[in-house]
Amino acid sequence: MRVPVLDLPAQYAALREEIDAALQQTCRNAAFALGYQVEKFEEDWAAYCNAEHCIAVNSGTDALHLSLLAVGLEPGQEVITSPMTFIATCEAILYAGATPVLVDIDPATNGLDPAAVEEAVTDRTRAILPVHIFGHPADMDPVLDIAARHDLAVVEDACQAHGALYKGRRVGAIGDAGCFSFYPTKNLGAYGEGGAVVTDDPDIAGRVRDLRAHGQTGPYLHTMIGYNARMHGFQGAVLNVKLPYLDEWNARRRAIAERYGTALAGTPLSLPAEAPWAQSVYHVYPTRCEARDEFRAHLEDADIATVIHYPIPMHRQPALGGLVRHGDLPEAEALAEEELSLPMFPELSDEQLDYVIETVQDFF
Ligand SMILES: *Cc1c(COP(=O)(O)O)cnc(C)c1O
Repeated sequence: MRVPVLDLPAQYAALREEIDAALQQTCRNAAFALGYQVEKFEEDWAAYCNAEHCIAVNSGTDALHLSLLAVGLEPGQEVITSPMTFIATCEAILYAGATPVLVDIDPATNGLDPAAVEEAVTDRTRAILPVHIFGHPADMDPVLDIAARHDLAVVEDACQAHGALYKGRRVGAIGDAGCFSFYPTKNLGAYGEGGAVVTDDPDIAGRVRDLRAHGQTGPYLHTMIGYNARMHGFQGAVLNVKLPYLDEWNARRRAIAERYGTALAGTPLSLPAEAPWAQSVYHVYPTRCEARDEFRAHLEDADIATVIHYPIPMHRQPALGGLVRHGDLPEAEALAEEELSLPMFPELSDEQLDYVIETVQDFF
């Protein structure tokens, strides 16, 4: 039996009529860049996240970049963030002319270790950028506390955590601004690139809105140099079809995680656990195994696809050489050496799940 890491064609097959109709409507109305479908999605995504404002942009990378500019990040300043993330988190900081300062992670959440954040604050620090990685929320209260004491902005990278809860609150709507990606493989994915910023702050919302469309504040009136970062109408249309299913899909991911958890508890494999205050949406199912490469090969031989998140932490990326790193990052290093993500997507069938579990048990 073949088990992929993701099955987007299966999802399209289930939603085909709705998606096709929404895309055709976009064509009929020529609502290609922003437009009524994007506006509807902005309203619904703000409501879903319990945020006052949502600004739809062209990618999660744009969401991060424009949020950082909107909270006032300036060249030469520093942003404290995690080495265990996708490179876009660091790129967004660099695009603003600022420096990413990487601190170690807490292996309980794989997010920022608050004690390490505190130690890394300097007089150049402007913002903290926690990443809710793998669908599990980072521990936000200590981060908000540090930010309040040092007068720093908090921008959340929620690109892997659509709908995840931190102490009952949606991630993304906890700091000054929250950034989402709707890249096709995310828990809520468009049919191309897409992203959004959510915030309760009307000034931040206004600045992101201006920045995403060339700083245009009136007809051909440009009050700042901005970007072309508008969400495409097709993506708004697809996201409007998919959003009503998000909770159901996340619930299925949680059920799969529970099944893995009970079935594999007796094996030496280290399984992800939820913090007591967290509800994860399991963007991936990150296990840890000292014999990771043999384990991966065993699954591959059985036609089960897996992914390593991430084999190279950010402080070791050739493109990011020279980033400020705060001390050694042993927890991030260990995760990079041991992590292996098992198949995790809502369309994973019970038969496929049983087969993965048997194959894992067989290895041990
Ligand atoms: C996907 C992702 C991004 C970037 O989003 P894009 O839409 O691909 O630009 C940023 N951070 C994290 C943690 C991500 O997973």
